[in-house]
Amino acid sequence: MLDINIIKCLSDNYSYLIKDKKTNLVGIIDPSDFKEVDEEISRTYKKLDFILNTHHHNDHTDGNINLKKKYNAKIICSRYESEKIPGADIKKSDSEQFSLGETDFKIIHIPGHTLGHIAFYSEKAGAIFTGDTLFSLGCGRIFEGTFKQMFTSLEKLKKLAKKTMIYCGHEYTYSNGRFCISIDKDNKKLKNRIQDVKNKIEKKLPTLPVSLSDELETNIFLRCDNKIIKNNLKMSNSSNLEVFTKLRNLKDQF
Ligand code: ZN
Ligand code: FE
Repeated sequence: MLDINIIKCLSDNYSYLIKDKKTNLVGIIDPSDFKEVDEEISRTYKKLDFILNTHHHNDHTDGNINLKKKYNAKIICSRYESEKIPGADIKKSDSEQFSLGETDFKIIHIPGHTLGHIAFYSEKAGAIFTGDTLFSLGCGRIFEGTFKQMFTSLEKLKKLAKKTMIYCGHEYTYSNGRFCISIDKDNKKLKNRIQDVKNKIEKKLPTLPVSLSDELETNIFLRCDNKIIKNNLKMSNSSNLEVFTKLRNLKDQF
């Protein structure tokens, strides 16, 4: 069993403090900032064994060095961008495993936002940490990769167990939802989700995690094969990748 604590960092980042219950090993996913993460560790487990980074951007790695120093933690990251990760210790490639005690994570290489971006997926815990690739109701901006790479990365994630809970790097759900509904106008499930998201935000609660099955029905970037969406975009004869490219470009200007 895995305990997961959500930590709000900076303006809209999330870091995740995780503990394997059997062995009491503790990890942090994407420490945006030393201070907020350290406060949560001081309040809870008072130790840190591993730091896991999904990608090299500062808002996901800024806490690395100070946390490593204070807790003597080891830093796990993508082999493809380890030279850009402060304090990198253990470098992982696609399909390799990382074990936090009895909780196994599979590394899934999902390039697009950055070229070396990875996700940490635990089938046993039913959780995936997707960084800035798959967001709730959205996907990350394409900074280093191609549209095709990002599209293929999302297709990989779509194939995971439907009940998997998604923990992503930012609280962008409400604005993402507004974009989805601007195109997927008659999606009832999406309308309900947006209302639910609005309620959570008013109460200052995180809108995460979210299940993959909910995302498959409401996140437009996972629905590029949907006939109604294609029709609404006047792209009935276009490929799914062309639809994805159109959507990502529209979202950049939204
Ligand atoms: Zn990023
Ligand atoms: Fe980010």
